[in-house]
Formats: sequence, C-alpha cells, structure tokens
Amino acid sequence: VGTPPSQTSSEAVDAILATLRANGGRATTARRQLLQALFDSGGHRTAEDLATEVQASSPDIHISTVYRNLDEFERLGIVFHTHLGHGPAIYHLSSAPHGHLVCANCGTAIEAAQELFSELSENAERRFGFLIDPRHFAMLGCCHSCAG
Ligand SMILES: [Zn+2]
Ligand SMILES: [Zn+2]
Ligand SMILES: [Zn+2]
Repeated sequence: VGTPPSQTSSEAVDAILATLRANGGRATTARRQLLQALFDSGGHRTAEDLATEVQASSPDIHISTVYRNLDEFERLGIVFHTHLGHGPAIYHLSSAPHGHLVCANCGTAIEAAQELFSELSENAERRFGFLIDPRHFAMLGCCHSCAG
C-alpha cells in the first residue's frame, strides 16, 4: 500500500479501502473512520485512542469493532502494531515502516528507518537462523538528553 506524500489523507484512505475490497473485505463506515484516524494521528495511537477519535464523530462504533478491524487490517498488511514499552500496543500504517528507539527514563520515542537494524538482522540470521522483526518491539535505552 503506497502512500505518496502528495496524496490527501482521504485519497490515501480510498486507496487502502480499494485494497481491502480487492482482498474480499468490506469498506464500512467504521473502517473508513478508523483509517482516517490512523492517518490524521501520524501513528503512535493505541486501539483505545483510535476508538475515542472514531467515537467523537460516530458514538455508536464500539471499541470491540475497532479492535476487530485493526486485527483484520493487520492480517491484510495495512497496519502493524508496535510495543514502545510496558503499555498497550500502538498502531501504524504499513506505508510508513520504521523501528523505534525509546528512552527508558523519559519515554522519548525516536523513529528509526529499518536500515538501522539491518546489520543486527543479518548477524542474527547468519548466526542463529533467526529472522528479527524490528518493527514489533522498540529498542529501549537512554536518550541523548538523559545520558548528558
Ligand atoms: Zn530520555
Ligand atoms: Zn512510529
Ligand atoms: Zn505484539
């Protein structure tokens, strides 16, 4: 699902809904609003945050619907979830893949391009036959300001 920056978010949502339909899914109002909320947030929202945003305009959409739709989007590769720390997972659109470096002291999250993890990934695969998914969990550590 490509999302060129020139696209408006509603065009991008339309493109994703077209992908959804092509995969046998239905483009419901709840799904459109959920995708819109994901775009408008720029990522880093929990399922509960997204439900609150969707419910601001559609109070009848239950949080269980939001969870179910996020699961289906994930199965179709439209979104992925990440754990930044001990709290609930956050959701991203797959059109913006990246990993996270999170400061265990102040909670600052730095978005890091996937290449940052490529050397680690290659070593893990060569030595252990293990395929790392750097998007799923953040790398925890100490940020520049906290270390200084
Ligand atoms: Zn910090
Ligand atoms: Zn992120
Ligand atoms: Zn997970």
